[in-house]
Amino acid sequence: MQRLFPICRAQTGHGVRESLRVIGEHIPLEMIEVPTGTEVFNWTVPQEWNIRDAYIADQTGRRLIDFRRSNLQVVLGSVPVRSVLHWNELEDHLHLDPAHPEAVPFRTCYGRDSWGFCVSQEQYDLLRNSDVQDFEVVIDSGYQDGSLTYGEFVVAGESDEECLFYTHICHPSLANDNLSGVAVLTQLAQALQSKQTRLTYRFVLAPATIGAITWLAQNKSRLGHIRQGLILGCLGDRGPLTYKRSRQTTSRIDQIAEYVLQMSSPAASLRSFEPFGYDERQFCSPGINLPIGRLTRSPNGEYPEYHTSLDNLDLIDPDSLVDSLNTCLKIVDVLEQDRCLLNRQPYCEPRLDRYDLYSSHGSREHNPALQHAVQWVLNYCDGENTLLDIAKRSGLPFAAVLDAAQRLEACGILEDLPMSVPARA
Ligand code: ZN
Repeated sequence: MQRLFPICRAQTGHGVRESLRVIGEHIPLEMIEVPTGTEVFNWTVPQEWNIRDAYIADQTGRRLIDFRRSNLQVVLGSVPVRSVLHWNELEDHLHLDPAHPEAVPFRTCYGRDSWGFCVSQEQYDLLRNSDVQDFEVVIDSGYQDGSLTYGEFVVAGESDEECLFYTHICHPSLANDNLSGVAVLTQLAQALQSKQTRLTYRFVLAPATIGAITWLAQNKSRLGHIRQGLILGCLGDRGPLTYKRSRQTTSRIDQIAEYVLQMSSPAASLRSFEPFGYDERQFCSPGINLPIGRLTRSPNGEYPEYHTSLDNLDLIDPDSLVDSLNTCLKIVDVLEQDRCLLNRQPYCEPRLDRYDLYSSHGSREHNPALQHAVQWVLNYCDGENTLLDIAKRSGLPFAAVLDAAQRLEACGILEDLPMSVPARA
C-alpha cells in the first residue's frame, strides 16, 4: 500500500498500469487493454487520460499548489491548461470540501471538458489572501486514443465453477478507498495460489463503473461460470465489517458471508442490496444479476475521511486489514468445504457403538461436543441440507459439523451427493 499510495491512478492511463505492475510482483496478473471506442453495453471505452504535472504558481514561479506534492490536488480528468489567471477567474476552478475544510477533497471530471484544482480551506485562503495578481495555472494533462486497463488473475480449481473477487483500482492517493481492497485482494490471491482448490477463483482489478462494465461486456459469454463472488473495498479502517447482500438476497455467498460474519465478527452488520455503492451496481444489475455480495468495513461515504486527503495510510489499521483478509479466507474455506451428504441409515438413530466413531484420538473417549455434532449431522443430512445449513441451524462452528460429517462418511454412514450451485437465472 505504501508503494501504491503515491501513484496517480485514474480511470485510465499510466497510473493504473504502473499499479498493476506493482501488484504483478506479488501475483502473476494478466494486464488486459481494451481500446478506446470499444462498445461495452450502453457505454463506450473512453479516451485514455494521463497527467504529467500541474500547479498554481506566483509570478516568481513558486508553486502554491503542486500536483507533485499530492495527486489529489488536481481534479482527475481535467483538460490541459496553461494560462495566467486573476483570482476571480481561478476561484471557480477551486474545489473545497466544506464538511472537511482541513482536507483536500477527491474530485473527478472525466470527459466533461473541464478542469480544476482541489484545495484545503487553508490553501484556498492562502491563494485568496495572497498579493499575487496573476496566477500561473498549468495542468499538463491530455486525452488521447489508447485503452482502458484492467488486471486479472485466475487460480484454476477442480471445477470450472467460479468465485469472483473484484476491486476497483482507479483512485489516486487514497488508502482505505481503495488501496485496502487492492491489498486484501492481492494477499487473498497469493494465499489461494498455492492451494489445491475445488472452485476456480478469479481476481479482477479494474477501474470503477466503466471498468466493471467493460469487464462484464468482455466476459459476457462466460458469466454463467460465476456462481459466487465478493466486491472488496474499504477494508482497512477500524470500523466493524459490513456485508451487503447480493441482489439475489439468499444466494450461497450471502448465506456463507452472513454465517462467517455472525460467527467471527459479532459487531459486523448485514445489509440488504440497494443499487448504490461500488460495482455491485453493475454485477447485480438486471440481466447480469450475479450472486455477488460486497465486503467492506465502514462502507463508502460512511466514514468522515472518505474521498479526502485524510483517507491516507495513517487511517489504515493493520489489524483490521488482517481481520478482513482472514474473513475472506474463512468464507473461502466454507465455500470449499460445504457439501451435501445423505444419511444412508435414516430409520431412527444408527447404532453408533458399532462404529469406531470416536476413536480417532485413541480409545473411545467421551467427547460430548463431537457426539452433539454427530447427532445434528445424522439428523439433517437428509439430502436437503448442506453442512452450512446444519451449522447455521445448530449454532455449531462449521469446522465441528465438518469434522463430524467426515467421521460419519469414513464409517460409511454418510454418502456424498453432488452439489452444484445453480447458474444465474
Ligand atoms: Zn471511491
